[in-house]
Amino acid sequence: MTHRAVWDDLIGQDRVAAFLRRTVEEGSTTHAYLFTGPPGSGKATAARALACALLCDDGGCGTCPACVRVKRRSHPDVRMIAPEGAATYMVEQARDLIHDVSLSPVEGPVKVYILDRAESFNPAAANALLKTLEEPPDYAVLILLTTSWEAVIPTIASRCQVVRFAPVSPHTAVALLAERTGAGRDEARAALAASGGVVPRAVEFLGSPSRRAARDRLIGVLRDLPVMDGRDVLVAARDLLIEVKAPLDDLRQRQEAEIRERIEFLGKTAGSMKPIEDRHKREITAREREGIGELVNVAESWLRDCLASIAGAFELVANRDASDDIAAAATCAGERQLARAMCAVGEARRRISYNVSPQLAIEAMLFDIQEALICPRSWE
Ligand SMILES: [Zn+2]
Repeated sequence: MTHRAVWDDLIGQDRVAAFLRRTVEEGSTTHAYLFTGPPGSGKATAARALACALLCDDGGCGTCPACVRVKRRSHPDVRMIAPEGAATYMVEQARDLIHDVSLSPVEGPVKVYILDRAESFNPAAANALLKTLEEPPDYAVLILLTTSWEAVIPTIASRCQVVRFAPVSPHTAVALLAERTGAGRDEARAALAASGGVVPRAVEFLGSPSRRAARDRLIGVLRDLPVMDGRDVLVAARDLLIEVKAPLDDLRQRQEAEIRERIEFLGKTAGSMKPIEDRHKREITAREREGIGELVNVAESWLRDCLASIAGAFELVANRDASDDIAAAATCAGERQLARAMCAVGEARRRISYNVSPQLAIEAMLFDIQEALICPRSWE
């Protein structure tokens, strides 16, 4: 078997990988796919692998300039799109997309659009997109991703080839992550907990000192919360935010490089950079939100660990480097307070999805968890 490289990124999805690979090799790819499966099952990775396979001269070698740029998300013919409204795609986004699809590819033979959270098309945005889904230009491939196939508007779903992704078991994910990165099992388990079980994100997490530092700091804050005063909590939230923003410098450098490259490539015809700059701004916002999401994941996994510890299910503890603190905190707080703190985490997730400022969301989450952990009688 040759040219396996990009498909190897697809963990625990041999059937999907074999299917997509075969369609590329046979030249039988279609114009619209709907990838459906639980979080962490590798849908976005598969979409990028498919983009590589279509844009690479070697069927997706994983190492040529085209493949590398797809993986770095800087290939001009691959666009990753996520809802920009609080919870849905906006009609303007659908219109932008339709306009973009009408423009020929910049470099490669195809243009690939990867649309995250396809269940977030409201009827108006979906309507705008239907004709494009039905009769896209020959070079266009649209890949829609969703965790819930049933929630995608039927007129959209029916125009796509549905590809189902099976869940990847936590045990498999830990083993593969450890094998791929050389991390220890405990480290891999903690990284997966911070990354919401998504293996490629956990790989990035393990490679980012600042993201690991943010996680370690939060684990310490959670341990100390019951003895912190209001000012301590505010300082802790501020410091966590500083850690979350640190990795954005890498992204900014990549973006500046993309603009330089584009000017070199297109010279005077490069035209306005505004669409690219706008996209870069959105990428920064998205990355910042992802970092905040990571903090929420860590808090949730820490509380779940406390509950596992109370139940004596130590094999389920994800943050094993903190298992002594977790056991101690669990004994002090008890099940009810921990359950209440879990609700606070859910609330934080909701606030973030409604675009509350990251600083406020984290402050509120820490105060809510603190209150839940130190007010044992509030449930009686
Ligand atoms: Zn390649």
